[in-house]
Amino acid sequence: MGSNSDMSFHVLIVGGGLAGLSLAHGLRKHNISFTIVERETAPRDRNWGVTLSWGHAQLERLLPPDLYANLQACQPDSSLDVKTSKKQCALIRDGATGAVLKAAPYPGVRRLQIQKTKKIWAKGLDIKYGKKLVDIEVLDPAINSGQRVLAKFEDGTTESASVIIGADGGTSNVRRWLLGEELAAQEVLPYSFMNFPFTLPAEKALWLDNEMNPNVDVAPHPKSMYMGIFLLDKPDIDRPETWMFYILTTWPIKTKEDQDNTENRLERLRSHMDGWADPYRSVVEWLPDDVIIRKDQLRIWHPIPWDNHNGRVTLAGDAAHSMTFHRGQGGNLAIQDADEFVKTMLAVRGGTKSLEEGVREYDKSVLERGEEVATSKAQTIAFHDYENFLNSPVVRMGIKPLAT
Ligand SMILES: Cc1cc2nc3c(=O)[nH]c(=O)nc-3n(C[C@H](O)[C@H](O)[C@H](O)COP(=O)(O)OP(=O)(O)OC[C@H]3O[C@@H](n4cnc5c(N)ncnc54)[C@H](O)[C@@H]3O)c2cc1C
Repeated sequence: MGSNSDMSFHVLIVGGGLAGLSLAHGLRKHNISFTIVERETAPRDRNWGVTLSWGHAQLERLLPPDLYANLQACQPDSSLDVKTSKKQCALIRDGATGAVLKAAPYPGVRRLQIQKTKKIWAKGLDIKYGKKLVDIEVLDPAINSGQRVLAKFEDGTTESASVIIGADGGTSNVRRWLLGEELAAQEVLPYSFMNFPFTLPAEKALWLDNEMNPNVDVAPHPKSMYMGIFLLDKPDIDRPETWMFYILTTWPIKTKEDQDNTENRLERLRSHMDGWADPYRSVVEWLPDDVIIRKDQLRIWHPIPWDNHNGRVTLAGDAAHSMTFHRGQGGNLAIQDADEFVKTMLAVRGGTKSLEEGVREYDKSVLERGEEVATSKAQTIAFHDYENFLNSPVVRMGIKPLAT
Protein backbone atom coordinates (compact mmCIF):
# COMPACT_ATOMS: atom_id res chain seq x y z
CA MET A 1 0.00 0.00 0.00
CA GLY A 2 1.23 3.47 -0.70
CA SER A 3 0.87 6.99 0.48
CA ASN A 4 -1.88 9.46 -0.36
CA SER A 5 -0.24 10.14 -3.71
CA ASP A 6 0.39 6.45 -4.52
CA MET A 7 -2.71 5.20 -6.33
CA SER A 8 -1.78 1.50 -6.14
CA PHE A 9 -3.86 1.15 -2.96
CA HIS A 10 -6.91 3.34 -2.73
CA VAL A 11 -9.97 3.54 -0.47
CA LEU A 12 -13.32 4.79 -1.76
CA ILE A 13 -15.59 6.22 0.94
CA VAL A 14 -19.24 6.40 -0.08
CA GLY A 15 -21.13 9.00 1.98
CA GLY A 16 -20.17 12.27 3.67
CA GLY A 17 -21.94 11.90 7.03
CA LEU A 18 -20.26 11.57 10.44
CA ALA A 19 -18.83 8.14 9.53
CA GLY A 20 -17.52 9.08 6.07
CA LEU A 21 -16.07 12.47 7.04
CA SER A 22 -14.31 11.29 10.20
CA LEU A 23 -12.95 8.30 8.28
CA ALA A 24 -11.66 10.54 5.49
CA HIS A 25 -9.82 12.70 8.03
CA GLY A 26 -8.35 9.62 9.68
CA LEU A 27 -7.03 8.26 6.36
CA ARG A 28 -5.70 11.69 5.41
CA LYS A 29 -3.85 11.98 8.72
CA HIS A 30 -1.98 8.77 7.88
CA ASN A 31 -1.44 9.58 4.24
CA ILE A 32 -3.57 6.72 2.99
CA SER A 33 -4.93 7.33 -0.50
CA PHE A 34 -8.70 7.80 -0.66
CA THR A 35 -11.61 9.40 -2.48
CA ILE A 36 -14.82 10.46 -0.73
CA VAL A 37 -18.07 10.78 -2.66
CA GLU A 38 -21.41 12.18 -1.54
CA ARG A 39 -24.84 11.89 -3.16
CA GLU A 40 -26.04 15.39 -2.22
CA THR A 41 -25.01 18.61 -3.94
CA ALA A 42 -26.49 20.85 -1.24
CA PRO A 43 -27.26 20.23 2.47
CA ARG A 44 -30.53 18.35 3.06
CA ASP A 45 -33.19 20.35 4.88
CA ARG A 46 -33.34 17.79 7.70
CA ASN A 47 -31.21 18.72 10.68
CA TRP A 48 -30.77 17.41 14.23
CA GLY A 49 -28.21 17.13 16.99
CA VAL A 50 -26.05 14.22 18.12
CA THR A 51 -24.70 13.77 21.63
CA LEU A 52 -20.98 13.11 21.37
CA SER A 53 -20.27 11.19 24.56
CA TRP A 54 -17.90 8.20 24.70
CA GLY A 55 -16.63 8.76 21.13
CA HIS A 56 -14.17 11.56 22.03
CA ALA A 57 -10.94 9.55 22.07
CA GLN A 58 -11.76 7.96 18.71
CA LEU A 59 -12.67 11.33 17.20
CA GLU A 60 -9.50 12.94 18.47
CA ARG A 61 -7.47 10.22 16.72
CA LEU A 62 -9.34 10.84 13.46
CA LEU A 63 -9.69 14.62 13.13
CA PRO A 64 -6.81 17.01 12.54
CA PRO A 65 -6.01 18.86 15.81
CA ASP A 66 -7.53 22.17 14.66
CA LEU A 67 -10.91 20.57 13.87
CA TYR A 68 -10.99 18.56 17.08
CA ALA A 69 -10.10 21.68 19.08
CA ASN A 70 -12.96 23.53 17.39
CA LEU A 71 -15.85 21.15 18.21
CA GLN A 72 -17.58 24.02 19.98
CA ALA A 73 -18.26 25.55 16.53
CA CYS A 74 -20.25 22.41 15.63
CA GLN A 75 -22.60 22.83 18.59
CA PRO A 76 -26.16 24.09 18.20
CA ASP A 77 -25.10 26.92 20.55
CA SER A 78 -21.52 27.67 19.52
CA SER A 79 -21.24 30.19 22.36
CA LEU A 80 -21.74 27.50 25.02
CA ASP A 81 -18.60 26.30 26.77
CA VAL A 82 -19.71 22.88 27.99
CA LYS A 83 -16.87 22.65 30.51
CA THR A 84 -17.76 25.87 32.33
CA SER A 85 -21.54 25.45 31.94
CA LYS A 86 -21.52 22.88 34.78
CA LYS A 87 -24.12 20.94 32.79
CA GLN A 88 -22.02 18.02 31.57
CA CYS A 89 -24.75 15.49 32.03
CA ALA A 90 -27.70 13.82 30.33
CA LEU A 91 -31.06 14.56 31.94
CA ILE A 92 -34.09 12.26 32.05
CA ARG A 93 -37.26 13.65 33.62
CA ASP A 94 -40.60 12.22 34.53
CA GLY A 95 -42.91 13.50 31.80
CA ALA A 96 -45.88 13.76 34.15
CA THR A 97 -44.22 15.70 36.98
CA GLY A 98 -41.07 17.19 35.44
CA ALA A 99 -39.03 15.67 38.33
CA VAL A 100 -35.54 14.44 37.46
CA LEU A 101 -35.42 10.63 37.11
CA LYS A 102 -31.75 10.49 36.22
CA ALA A 103 -29.02 13.06 35.67
CA ALA A 104 -26.04 11.04 34.50
CA PRO A 105 -22.80 13.05 34.77
CA TYR A 106 -20.82 12.78 31.58
CA PRO A 107 -17.50 14.70 31.43
CA GLY A 108 -16.84 15.92 27.92
CA VAL A 109 -20.38 15.35 26.65
CA ARG A 110 -21.40 17.81 23.95
CA ARG A 111 -24.00 18.23 21.20
CA LEU A 112 -22.99 18.34 17.56
CA GLN A 113 -25.46 19.85 15.12
CA ILE A 114 -25.39 17.65 12.02
CA GLN A 115 -25.43 20.34 9.32
CA LYS A 116 -22.80 22.55 11.00
CA THR A 117 -20.65 19.51 11.69
CA LYS A 118 -20.78 18.29 8.10
CA LYS A 119 -19.87 21.75 6.83
CA ILE A 120 -16.99 22.21 9.26
CA TRP A 121 -15.61 18.68 8.87
CA ALA A 122 -15.69 19.00 5.07
CA LYS A 123 -12.77 21.43 5.47
CA GLY A 124 -9.59 20.11 3.89
CA LEU A 125 -11.34 17.22 2.13
CA ASP A 126 -11.84 17.12 -1.61
CA ILE A 127 -15.37 15.68 -1.50
CA LYS A 128 -16.90 14.72 -4.84
CA TYR A 129 -20.50 15.90 -4.49
CA GLY A 130 -23.47 14.80 -6.61
CA LYS A 131 -22.15 11.22 -6.83
CA LYS A 132 -24.88 8.77 -5.94
CA LEU A 133 -23.56 5.22 -5.90
CA VAL A 134 -25.92 2.90 -7.75
CA ASP A 135 -23.84 -0.22 -8.41
CA ILE A 136 -20.53 -1.96 -7.68
CA GLU A 137 -18.48 -4.35 -9.78
CA VAL A 138 -15.70 -6.52 -8.41
CA LEU A 139 -13.07 -6.66 -11.14
CA ASP A 140 -11.03 -9.66 -12.16
CA PRO A 141 -7.69 -9.42 -10.27
CA ALA A 142 -5.88 -11.18 -13.13
CA ILE A 143 -6.75 -8.31 -15.48
CA ASN A 144 -6.86 -5.37 -13.04
CA SER A 145 -3.96 -5.41 -10.64
CA GLY A 146 -4.19 -2.90 -7.80
CA GLN A 147 -7.63 -1.28 -8.19
CA ARG A 148 -10.03 -4.16 -8.11
CA VAL A 149 -13.46 -2.81 -7.35
CA LEU A 150 -15.47 -0.33 -9.36
CA ALA A 151 -18.17 2.02 -8.02
CA LYS A 152 -20.78 3.20 -10.50
CA PHE A 153 -22.70 6.44 -10.03
CA GLU A 154 -26.08 7.65 -11.18
CA ASP A 155 -24.47 10.27 -13.43
CA GLY A 156 -22.75 7.52 -15.44
CA THR A 157 -19.26 8.08 -13.99
CA THR A 158 -17.19 5.45 -12.13
CA GLU A 159 -14.42 5.33 -9.50
CA SER A 160 -12.08 2.40 -9.02
CA ALA A 161 -10.55 1.46 -5.68
CA SER A 162 -8.89 -1.33 -3.76
CA VAL A 163 -11.65 -1.24 -1.15
CA ILE A 164 -15.04 0.47 -0.96
CA ILE A 165 -16.48 1.42 2.41
CA GLY A 166 -20.19 2.19 2.36
CA ALA A 167 -20.82 4.99 4.87
CA ASP A 168 -24.01 5.84 3.04
CA GLY A 169 -26.46 5.88 5.92
CA GLY A 170 -29.52 3.91 6.99
CA THR A 171 -30.82 3.19 3.49
CA SER A 172 -27.34 2.27 2.19
CA ASN A 173 -27.04 1.25 -1.46
CA VAL A 174 -23.73 -0.44 -0.66
CA ARG A 175 -25.57 -2.63 1.88
CA ARG A 176 -28.23 -3.44 -0.71
CA TRP A 177 -25.54 -4.42 -3.18
CA LEU A 178 -23.87 -6.65 -0.56
CA LEU A 179 -27.01 -8.36 0.72
CA GLY A 180 -29.85 -7.80 -1.75
CA GLU A 181 -33.01 -5.74 -1.19
CA GLU A 182 -34.75 -8.15 1.15
CA LEU A 183 -31.94 -8.74 3.65
CA ALA A 184 -30.82 -5.10 3.53
CA ALA A 185 -34.32 -3.73 4.15
CA GLN A 186 -34.90 -1.75 7.35
CA GLU A 187 -37.47 -2.76 9.93
CA VAL A 188 -40.16 -0.14 10.62
CA LEU A 189 -41.01 0.03 14.33
CA PRO A 190 -44.70 0.44 15.28
CA TYR A 191 -44.41 3.95 16.75
CA SER A 192 -45.62 7.37 15.69
CA PHE A 193 -42.50 9.48 15.33
CA MET A 194 -42.27 13.26 14.98
CA ASN A 195 -39.06 15.25 14.64
CA PHE A 196 -39.50 18.92 13.79
CA PRO A 197 -37.92 22.36 14.38
CA PHE A 198 -39.66 25.47 15.68
CA THR A 199 -39.00 28.98 16.97
CA LEU A 200 -40.72 30.83 19.81
CA PRO A 201 -41.28 34.47 20.77
CA ALA A 202 -38.19 35.93 22.48
CA GLU A 203 -39.22 35.63 26.14
CA LYS A 204 -40.50 32.07 25.70
CA ALA A 205 -37.32 31.05 23.86
CA LEU A 206 -35.22 32.49 26.71
CA TRP A 207 -37.31 30.64 29.29
CA LEU A 208 -36.99 27.34 27.43
CA ASP A 209 -33.26 27.75 26.85
CA ASN A 210 -32.77 28.34 30.55
CA GLU A 211 -35.06 25.46 31.53
CA MET A 212 -33.47 22.81 29.30
CA ASN A 213 -30.35 20.76 29.79
CA PRO A 214 -28.18 21.67 26.74
CA ASN A 215 -27.13 18.07 26.04
CA VAL A 216 -29.97 15.63 26.60
CA ASP A 217 -33.31 16.53 28.15
CA VAL A 218 -35.87 13.79 27.56
CA ALA A 219 -38.81 12.21 29.32
CA PRO A 220 -40.93 9.08 29.40
CA HIS A 221 -44.58 9.67 30.30
CA PRO A 222 -46.73 7.15 32.22
CA LYS A 223 -49.20 7.08 29.35
CA SER A 224 -46.62 5.42 27.12
CA MET A 225 -45.03 8.35 25.35
CA TYR A 226 -41.53 9.79 24.88
CA MET A 227 -40.55 13.40 24.34
CA GLY A 228 -37.30 15.31 24.12
CA ILE A 229 -36.79 19.02 23.46
CA PHE A 230 -33.43 20.13 22.10
CA LEU A 231 -31.73 23.27 20.86
CA LEU A 232 -30.95 23.15 17.13
CA ASP A 233 -29.34 26.54 16.42
CA LYS A 234 -28.81 30.09 17.65
CA PRO A 235 -28.33 31.97 14.39
CA ASP A 236 -28.35 35.31 16.24
CA ILE A 237 -27.26 35.00 19.86
CA ASP A 238 -28.80 38.37 20.76
CA ARG A 239 -32.23 37.62 19.27
CA PRO A 240 -33.86 34.68 21.05
CA GLU A 241 -36.76 34.79 18.60
CA THR A 242 -34.33 33.41 15.97
CA TRP A 243 -33.26 30.46 18.12
CA MET A 244 -34.36 27.12 16.74
CA PHE A 245 -35.41 24.21 18.91
CA TYR A 246 -36.72 20.83 17.92
CA ILE A 247 -38.96 18.18 19.41
CA LEU A 248 -38.49 14.46 19.14
CA THR A 249 -41.52 12.48 20.21
CA THR A 250 -42.72 8.89 19.88
CA TRP A 251 -45.70 6.84 21.01
CA PRO A 252 -47.03 3.41 20.04
CA ILE A 253 -49.37 3.41 17.05
CA LYS A 254 -52.89 2.68 18.21
CA THR A 255 -55.23 4.66 15.92
CA LYS A 256 -55.89 4.53 12.20
CA GLU A 257 -54.71 8.14 11.87
CA ASP A 258 -51.39 7.24 13.46
CA GLN A 259 -51.20 4.12 11.30
CA ASP A 260 -51.83 6.18 8.15
CA ASN A 261 -49.55 8.95 9.48
CA THR A 262 -52.10 11.56 8.42
CA GLU A 263 -50.99 15.13 7.71
CA ASN A 264 -52.73 16.64 10.81
CA ARG A 265 -49.63 15.90 12.86
CA LEU A 266 -49.74 18.93 15.17
CA GLU A 267 -53.37 18.14 16.02
CA ARG A 268 -52.47 14.49 16.71
CA LEU A 269 -49.51 15.55 18.88
CA ARG A 270 -51.64 18.01 20.87
CA SER A 271 -54.26 15.33 21.45
CA HIS A 272 -51.52 13.35 23.27
CA MET A 273 -50.39 16.18 25.56
CA ASP A 274 -52.85 15.96 28.47
CA GLY A 275 -51.04 15.13 31.69
CA TRP A 276 -47.62 16.35 30.54
CA ALA A 277 -45.56 18.64 32.82
CA ASP A 278 -43.51 21.64 31.72
CA PRO A 279 -41.49 22.42 29.73
CA TYR A 280 -43.11 19.88 27.37
CA ARG A 281 -46.76 20.88 27.91
CA SER A 282 -46.29 24.64 27.46
CA VAL A 283 -43.94 24.29 24.51
CA VAL A 284 -46.39 22.15 22.52
CA GLU A 285 -49.15 24.61 23.42
CA TRP A 286 -47.01 27.52 22.14
CA LEU A 287 -46.14 25.91 18.79
CA PRO A 288 -47.36 28.02 15.89
CA ASP A 289 -50.34 26.39 14.17
CA ASP A 290 -48.46 26.33 10.87
CA VAL A 291 -45.38 24.54 12.25
CA ILE A 292 -44.16 22.03 9.66
CA ILE A 293 -44.02 18.43 10.86
CA ARG A 294 -42.79 16.15 8.12
CA LYS A 295 -43.68 12.49 7.72
CA ASP A 296 -41.20 10.24 9.51
CA GLN A 297 -40.81 6.64 10.62
CA LEU A 298 -38.66 4.87 13.19
CA ARG A 299 -36.51 2.51 11.13
CA ILE A 300 -33.69 0.23 12.17
CA TRP A 301 -31.39 -2.35 10.60
CA HIS A 302 -29.68 -5.01 12.70
CA PRO A 303 -26.51 -6.21 10.97
CA ILE A 304 -26.10 -9.71 9.62
CA PRO A 305 -22.84 -10.99 8.10
CA TRP A 306 -22.14 -9.98 4.50
CA ASP A 307 -19.70 -11.33 1.92
CA ASN A 308 -17.02 -8.64 1.77
CA HIS A 309 -15.56 -10.03 -1.49
CA ASN A 310 -12.12 -10.80 -0.06
CA GLY A 311 -12.00 -7.54 1.84
CA ARG A 312 -13.04 -5.34 -1.09
CA VAL A 313 -16.42 -3.99 0.11
CA THR A 314 -17.58 -3.19 3.63
CA LEU A 315 -19.81 -0.86 5.65
CA ALA A 316 -19.61 1.72 8.46
CA GLY A 317 -21.98 3.81 10.58
CA ASP A 318 -25.74 3.70 9.98
CA ALA A 319 -25.16 1.70 6.78
CA ALA A 320 -23.81 -1.09 8.99
CA HIS A 321 -26.17 -0.69 11.96
CA SER A 322 -29.04 1.78 11.98
CA MET A 323 -30.67 2.26 15.34
CA THR A 324 -33.23 4.38 17.13
CA PHE A 325 -32.03 7.59 18.80
CA HIS A 326 -33.49 6.74 22.23
CA ARG A 327 -30.08 5.75 23.63
CA GLY A 328 -27.98 8.21 21.60
CA GLN A 329 -25.46 5.76 20.19
CA GLY A 330 -25.50 5.89 16.36
CA GLY A 331 -23.15 8.84 15.89
CA ASN A 332 -20.64 7.62 18.47
CA LEU A 333 -20.63 4.18 16.87
CA ALA A 334 -20.18 5.68 13.39
CA ILE A 335 -17.04 7.42 14.69
CA GLN A 336 -15.85 4.19 16.33
CA ASP A 337 -16.27 2.31 13.02
CA ALA A 338 -14.22 4.99 11.26
CA ASP A 339 -11.47 4.69 13.87
CA GLU A 340 -11.40 0.88 13.60
CA PHE A 341 -11.28 1.03 9.81
CA VAL A 342 -8.32 3.43 9.87
CA LYS A 343 -6.50 1.08 12.27
CA THR A 344 -7.25 -1.79 9.87
CA MET A 345 -5.82 0.11 6.91
CA LEU A 346 -2.71 0.95 8.92
CA ALA A 347 -2.20 -2.73 9.77
CA VAL A 348 -2.61 -3.65 6.11
CA ARG A 349 -0.13 -0.97 5.06
CA GLY A 350 2.30 -2.06 7.76
CA GLY A 351 2.10 -5.61 6.37
CA THR A 352 0.89 -7.13 9.64
CA LYS A 353 -2.43 -8.11 7.96
CA SER A 354 -3.61 -8.84 4.47
CA LEU A 355 -6.55 -6.76 3.25
CA GLU A 356 -8.76 -9.83 3.36
CA GLU A 357 -7.78 -10.64 6.94
CA GLY A 358 -7.98 -7.03 8.13
CA VAL A 359 -11.44 -6.35 6.69
CA ARG A 360 -12.71 -9.72 7.95
CA GLU A 361 -11.69 -8.71 11.49
CA TYR A 362 -13.10 -5.21 11.00
CA ASP A 363 -16.43 -6.68 9.84
CA LYS A 364 -16.53 -8.93 12.90
CA SER A 365 -16.09 -5.90 15.17
CA VAL A 366 -18.81 -3.99 13.27
CA LEU A 367 -21.22 -6.89 13.79
CA GLU A 368 -20.42 -6.92 17.52
CA ARG A 369 -20.99 -3.16 17.78
CA GLY A 370 -24.18 -3.65 15.80
CA GLU A 371 -25.69 -5.51 18.76
CA GLU A 372 -26.41 -1.99 20.00
CA VAL A 373 -29.31 -1.95 17.49
CA ALA A 374 -31.12 -4.46 19.72
CA THR A 375 -30.18 -2.58 22.90
CA SER A 376 -31.41 0.71 21.45
CA LYS A 377 -34.63 -1.01 20.38
CA ALA A 378 -35.04 -2.24 23.96
CA GLN A 379 -34.51 1.37 25.08
CA THR A 380 -37.21 2.55 22.65
CA ILE A 381 -39.64 0.00 24.09
CA ALA A 382 -38.65 1.01 27.64
CA PHE A 383 -39.32 4.70 27.01
CA HIS A 384 -42.93 3.64 26.37
CA ASP A 385 -43.12 1.33 29.39
CA TYR A 386 -43.04 3.77 32.29
CA GLU A 387 -43.41 1.14 35.04
CA ASN A 388 -40.22 -0.61 33.93
CA PHE A 389 -38.29 2.42 32.79
CA LEU A 390 -35.82 2.31 35.67
CA ASN A 391 -34.72 -1.13 34.42
CA SER A 392 -34.01 0.17 30.93
CA PRO A 393 -30.52 0.00 29.33
CA VAL A 394 -29.87 3.74 29.62
CA VAL A 395 -30.61 3.75 33.35
CA ARG A 396 -28.76 0.51 34.07
CA MET A 397 -25.80 0.89 31.69
CA GLY A 398 -25.69 4.62 30.95
CA ILE A 399 -24.89 5.70 27.42
CA LYS A 400 -21.86 3.55 26.73
CA PRO A 401 -22.51 0.32 24.82
CA LEU A 402 -20.82 -2.95 25.70
CA ALA A 403 -18.95 -3.62 22.45
CA THR A 404 -16.68 -0.58 22.25
C1 LIG B 1 -33.24 12.63 15.39
C2 LIG B 1 -31.95 11.90 15.60
C3 LIG B 1 -31.27 12.02 16.81
C4 LIG B 1 -30.06 11.35 17.01
N1 LIG B 1 -29.39 11.49 18.18
C5 LIG B 1 -28.19 10.88 18.37
C6 LIG B 1 -27.43 11.06 19.57
O1 LIG B 1 -27.82 11.78 20.47
N2 LIG B 1 -26.23 10.42 19.68
C7 LIG B 1 -25.75 9.62 18.69
O2 LIG B 1 -24.65 9.07 18.84
N3 LIG B 1 -26.44 9.43 17.54
C8 LIG B 1 -27.63 10.04 17.35
N4 LIG B 1 -28.33 9.87 16.19
C9 LIG B 1 -27.78 8.98 15.17
C10 LIG B 1 -26.72 9.66 14.32
O3 LIG B 1 -27.19 10.88 13.82
C11 LIG B 1 -26.36 8.72 13.18
O4 LIG B 1 -26.07 7.45 13.66
C12 LIG B 1 -25.14 9.23 12.42
O5 LIG B 1 -25.34 10.56 12.00
C13 LIG B 1 -24.87 8.31 11.25
O6 LIG B 1 -23.84 8.83 10.46
P1 LIG B 1 -23.49 8.12 9.08
O7 LIG B 1 -22.36 8.88 8.52
O8 LIG B 1 -23.34 6.65 9.29
O9 LIG B 1 -24.82 8.27 8.20
P2 LIG B 1 -25.49 9.57 7.59
O10 LIG B 1 -25.34 10.74 8.48
O11 LIG B 1 -26.86 9.17 7.17
O12 LIG B 1 -24.62 9.90 6.32
C14 LIG B 1 -24.73 9.14 5.14
C15 LIG B 1 -24.31 10.03 3.99
O13 LIG B 1 -24.27 9.22 2.81
C16 LIG B 1 -24.89 9.92 1.75
N5 LIG B 1 -25.43 8.91 0.84
C17 LIG B 1 -26.53 8.14 1.01
N6 LIG B 1 -26.69 7.31 -0.02
C18 LIG B 1 -25.67 7.55 -0.86
C19 LIG B 1 -25.29 6.99 -2.13
N7 LIG B 1 -25.98 6.01 -2.70
N8 LIG B 1 -24.16 7.46 -2.74
C20 LIG B 1 -23.43 8.46 -2.15
N9 LIG B 1 -23.75 9.02 -0.96
C21 LIG B 1 -24.85 8.57 -0.33
C22 LIG B 1 -25.98 10.75 2.42
O14 LIG B 1 -26.37 11.86 1.63
C23 LIG B 1 -25.31 11.15 3.74
O15 LIG B 1 -24.61 12.38 3.62
C24 LIG B 1 -29.55 10.52 15.98
C25 LIG B 1 -30.25 10.40 14.77
C26 LIG B 1 -31.43 11.08 14.58
C27 LIG B 1 -32.14 10.95 13.26
